[in-house]
Amino acid sequence: MRRCCAVWKAYDTTDSHPIGCFGMKLVGCVAGPFQTNCWMVINSETASVTVIDPGYGAAKIVDDYCQEQQLTVGEILLTHGHIDHMRDAGVLATTHGCTVSIHPDDAFMLTDPSGGVSSQAMALHDVGSMVKVPADSLQQLTHEQQITIGEEQFTVRHAPGHSPGSVLLVGEEICFSGDVLFKGSIGRTDLPGSDWSAMEQTLANQVLTLPDNLMILPGHGPTTKMQAERLGNPYLRKYQS
Ligand SMILES: [Zn+2]
Ligand SMILES: [Zn+2]
Repeated sequence: MRRCCAVWKAYDTTDSHPIGCFGMKLVGCVAGPFQTNCWMVINSETASVTVIDPGYGAAKIVDDYCQEQQLTVGEILLTHGHIDHMRDAGVLATTHGCTVSIHPDDAFMLTDPSGGVSSQAMALHDVGSMVKVPADSLQQLTHEQQITIGEEQFTVRHAPGHSPGSVLLVGEEICFSGDVLFKGSIGRTDLPGSDWSAMEQTLANQVLTLPDNLMILPGHGPTTKMQAERLGNPYLRKYQS
């Protein structure tokens, strides 16, 4: 597989910057007031990209990148329904006529973002001017569903706690962990719809069962390895036997 270092430099601006480079055709940028990681996974056979978690401002970055690289936006996947991860999903879906997939337990946030975040977060993401995801573009991500992202196979793991419909997208080499697992931390559980006991179940049954060699690509902050989190993440230690 071609490495993608060359394209990172295009995003080294004040508004967005590269956060990693991997063997697969994967481009990441940071968008919006909460510095949310947006990922583009490229399928070179179809010249299309899967966009994961397009936050506020990500649509322009994705559009510019796709124009430059002569790619189309094939689909959008959301790790969960919080505004900082889905703010630009509607405008991308409308512009490109592509589907938006989310776990059904978080789908309500696409029409009512206040169901998952504070009013301050809504204001920071300028919800008033947000293009909503068209109802007919919605698709579901469900537990243990097999999906193709780029040219790789992934399994969906339902991972509630931070939000009711959070998912992990687990591939052979990488895992898009949304706001479930971060480097050295986990997602907060004090938001509307959060559930600490569900998070405990998720950590024990869905996170700690991930293989050590997985690269973790979280919804915020730097990437990490599952092994490093198993050993050093204080939130994971207590669940290990
Ligand atoms: Zn979140
Ligand atoms: Zn987030």
